[in-house]
Amino acid sequence: MNTRCLAGLALACLPALGSAQVLVENATILTLAEGQDTPFTGYLLATSDGAIAAIGAGEYQGELPIATSVVDAQGKLLVPGFVSAHNHLWQTAFRGLAIDDVLYPWLQALHWTYGDNFSDGDFYWFTLHGAMDQLAHGITTTYSHSQRLGGSEEQYLESLTAEAGFSQHFVFSYNGNVNQAPAAYRKDFAAFMAKSEAIMAAPGSSMLAPAVHSVGLHGNLPMLKVEMEVAAEYGLGAQFHYLEQFSRRAEDRAEWPDLMAAGAVRKGNSFAHFIHTTDEIRDDTAAGGAGMSWNPLSNGRLASGLADIPDYLARGIPVGMGVDGAASADIGDPFENMRMGMYALRMQHKDAKIMSPLQVMKLHTMGSAGVMGVADKVGSLEVGKRADFLILDPDSPATGALFYPAAHIVATMSADNIDAVYVDGKLRVNNGEVLEQDMDLVQQEVERRVAAIVARENASKSGES
Ligand SMILES: [Zn+2]
Repeated sequence: MNTRCLAGLALACLPALGSAQVLVENATILTLAEGQDTPFTGYLLATSDGAIAAIGAGEYQGELPIATSVVDAQGKLLVPGFVSAHNHLWQTAFRGLAIDDVLYPWLQALHWTYGDNFSDGDFYWFTLHGAMDQLAHGITTTYSHSQRLGGSEEQYLESLTAEAGFSQHFVFSYNGNVNQAPAAYRKDFAAFMAKSEAIMAAPGSSMLAPAVHSVGLHGNLPMLKVEMEVAAEYGLGAQFHYLEQFSRRAEDRAEWPDLMAAGAVRKGNSFAHFIHTTDEIRDDTAAGGAGMSWNPLSNGRLASGLADIPDYLARGIPVGMGVDGAASADIGDPFENMRMGMYALRMQHKDAKIMSPLQVMKLHTMGSAGVMGVADKVGSLEVGKRADFLILDPDSPATGALFYPAAHIVATMSADNIDAVYVDGKLRVNNGEVLEQDMDLVQQEVERRVAAIVARENASKSGES
């Protein structure tokens, strides 16, 4: 044991640091770990296998191998990477679409128009683009609530391939084809699981877990039951879109007994949006241990409404935050998402204490990690967890004097203040530039492919008329 690590506010150390790779020092650190709400000036050491080996106040006193790169973060903030509990990564290709529509007309304009015109490679490039964009905005772990549009199983699974080849950590929820017999669904699911296991077994894999994107609720109740059976057999969590559009709340609420009967309201499962709940639904959710993803940017854009998050938290419902797809949030920016959510609650309740900056930061990190079932790996800066963190510069662009770091981050900062994004202890984004892939080239490819999709849609429309 390295005894010097025990001095002062040092939080913990590991005895063997032979593979240390990056040491960040002199940073103002907010770990967001349980019981550590007070920031301190100190260091973080990540080993070459991507784990946090040491974090503490003051100067790091241990031995360092020559190969260590030392980053001086004097005057900067070091925080965990954000975790987004609900996302559709491919949607960055379709920003700004149907800007004056609520959910169902918006779905009509996107999914049931352009989604029917995807071709080979579209899901791959769109998903890669979305993952790169999120990482540049400081989201180091995402819940990829993947979506099956028109097209083949192979085309759909390109989204998994794209994420597996990129560093952003992810949970992939599989949207099986429920328009087939249960046996065929199970066969496809088994193939997905085999693929997932192979991806996760690769060294340095970015995939944290598979999951189930359950859609049976929406018009196919026998398949909801099958989805829940499969989730239970493989020990996976499931997520559901639920109680989003205001004008459909009565129909949605009427489906609650179906969710209860299918065993969907249980620990490990979560509801995305979950806005127009009733007392009964909240009580059942708390009792069952299911969580929810709060998505303020998307809920604002689609005029869906504001979930009563303080009440959910008071009842003990696990709450995470998501930026949702970029066709409904437009920019997958956790800074904007936190600000939008916190301010909306303050407007609604006319109470400035209804949610604090620190609380909303915790929801977008540990809260999301908990809902996703990966809180042992990401969401806070603690020894043994993945070294996923952001270095924020309050002076570029200038945001003023730094009184309270969490307040400063939530009230004044944007993704422009991100100096660096690290995933698994490796620098992935430097001053806004994603290092693994050329964003300009990916952007060009995406634009070319979107233009082709629009052309195919227009051609099929003119063929119909
Ligand atoms: Zn969604």
